[in-house]
Amino acid sequence: MKLSSPMEIWKYLPGTNCGECGEKTCLAFASLLIERKKRLEDCSPLFEPKYAEKGKELAELLAPAVREVEIGISERARKIGGEDVMHRHERTFFNRTALAYDVWDTMNEEELRERVKEITNWKKFYVGEFLKVDAVAVRSVSGDAKTFAECVKRVAEETDFPLVLCSFDAKVMEEGLKEVSDRNPLIYAADKNNWKEVLRIAKRYKVPVTLFSPDLDMLISLAVTFSSAGVEDIVLDPGTYPTGEGLEETFSRFVRIRRAGIVDGNKGIAYPLIAVPMSAWMVHGDGAKSEDALEASYWEAIIADLFIIKYADIMILHSIEPHSLIPERTLVANIYTDPRRPVSVEPGLREVGNPTEKSPLFVTTNFALTYYTVESDITSNKIDSYLMVVDSEGIGVESAVAGGQLNAENFKDALESFNVASKVKHKTMVIPGLAARLSGETEDVTGWTVLVGPRDSGRIPGWMEKNWPPETVS
Ligand code: SF4
Repeated sequence: MKLSSPMEIWKYLPGTNCGECGEKTCLAFASLLIERKKRLEDCSPLFEPKYAEKGKELAELLAPAVREVEIGISERARKIGGEDVMHRHERTFFNRTALAYDVWDTMNEEELRERVKEITNWKKFYVGEFLKVDAVAVRSVSGDAKTFAECVKRVAEETDFPLVLCSFDAKVMEEGLKEVSDRNPLIYAADKNNWKEVLRIAKRYKVPVTLFSPDLDMLISLAVTFSSAGVEDIVLDPGTYPTGEGLEETFSRFVRIRRAGIVDGNKGIAYPLIAVPMSAWMVHGDGAKSEDALEASYWEAIIADLFIIKYADIMILHSIEPHSLIPERTLVANIYTDPRRPVSVEPGLREVGNPTEKSPLFVTTNFALTYYTVESDITSNKIDSYLMVVDSEGIGVESAVAGGQLNAENFKDALESFNVASKVKHKTMVIPGLAARLSGETEDVTGWTVLVGPRDSGRIPGWMEKNWPPETVS
């Protein structure tokens, strides 16, 4: 994207403030456009002949540095790529790394359907949302077209997730693709040997395609060939080597490709990247031995984490064990938050369990990670209580105390605005251990007794045994 402010965008809009886009002014629309919360197509006047030239220019200026590619359909569709910056703190990343977990066509039907269900239904609650995975990768292991097609069909019956179809044999690929061509799967992959056939398939079925080559000159050449032939929805695989110098070189290739696309503006290589951390299984044992499987899944997770950070837009993984899946998906959730906006929850007074007027009043900030951790620790330990969530501008306790966003005054404001005195009669609050230095001033400002809780909310049960109820409550 070559424009960096709503005012710059506004100059290209009709400027009539007609409201057809759902916004009151063109400037408001421009602000949402830059955040990708609206699309250019939402401004229909821009496509009238008198504005069309500006519209075309604007579309080019707004195009992300890395092409955005969509896989799957409807509400399950996932956009990958579409990034404008090398580092999230420069602005933000927009499309988180899509995690695709594999199945293969030599699995028996029962195992296959069970694994697809497991992948599709996996979820984990984390900081206010359920983390899920994104796609299923179907691998041809048999090398037989009919077997692959049957496998793809069964997978499609079990899940509406986007699919990645994996075979270097174009005939096998096409048979599988026929089963799901209306689901916009990503096909994997064209290389220097099969590219003509895969290009024909990608054009015929109008699906996104992966190009594979560890040789970057060859990769660029393939990308230019496909793009010149009208296939623009391209994903690049520069190879994922799981150990030693191979891994080092893989990492270097990912960085070089992304840098060429974003910093150097090389459009010929500015496409989403795919990593294949499951290559760890090729070198770490056969998986039949449990210690080998543990080692392989460990290394797979390490490699995945490396490329979630730099710069895989989608990846193919094998292990669906919690020790792999949870860190991978959690890391994605953390890297792909908008660094300009702290992840926060609404301030307020929450009831945990069935509190009475003698129950403890815990205090925390509205930084989402802190809030959900404290709330979860209190809930899981069945401590009937009130939890006062103070507006710290979405910043965690220690930083908010240091930065002044958490102070005696906003404790006082929270007590008053949430009418806490109508719920608890003891006028005693428990502040986080990390906010201990606010205790004296808070007592002076609020007139409440302040107890300093533990620094880690996981220690609240032990703290309660020693400190609750205090004399002010009993
Ligand atoms: S539809 Fe276009 S012209 Fe009308 S207010 Fe929105 S941005 Fe402006």
